[in-house]
Amino acid sequence: MPQFTYETDEATFTFPYQDAVDVLSSNIKEYQVEDDSMLLTWLLGNSSNGQQDIAINAEATFEMEDYVGRIVYLIRNLLIQGKGTVHCKQCDRNIPASNIKKKQTTPFDAHDGLDKKTRNILKKELGLKGRIRFPASGGTIFLCDKGHELFRTKDWIT
Ligand SMILES: [Zn+2]
Repeated sequence: MPQFTYETDEATFTFPYQDAVDVLSSNIKEYQVEDDSMLLTWLLGNSSNGQQDIAINAEATFEMEDYVGRIVYLIRNLLIQGKGTVHCKQCDRNIPASNIKKKQTTPFDAHDGLDKKTRNILKKELGLKGRIRFPASGGTIFLCDKGHELFRTKDWIT
């Protein structure tokens, strides 16, 4: 069965190609994001319609069309569903996706760099009261069972 591989500085993710297509297709059905449809077409094209492996380096995607960047959400969704295997480069081990840890970051975590004073100034300037909820500030972090960070996404809350 062909494989879909995605490599970052921290880890290499390997999924059965069919799982990647299935997860992406169901996402397209649910949210109808046009870029996801383009990404699916791209995956089909680059695997000769699922006949051969695809390997993607995270760094290379920055130079590609914007819709290829949606791949991080595909990886996130695959990991959330416990699909595939992750190779943690720090421990040099393969870990089934079902064994990796997942952490949701709250809006405030993403703004750890802001001290209380800065936040208060921001609140004042933006005319906000109570807890600040910055859009797009939540996210998902995946860690190996030894706590090494493998992957993170910034999840837009819109
Ligand atoms: Zn590790």
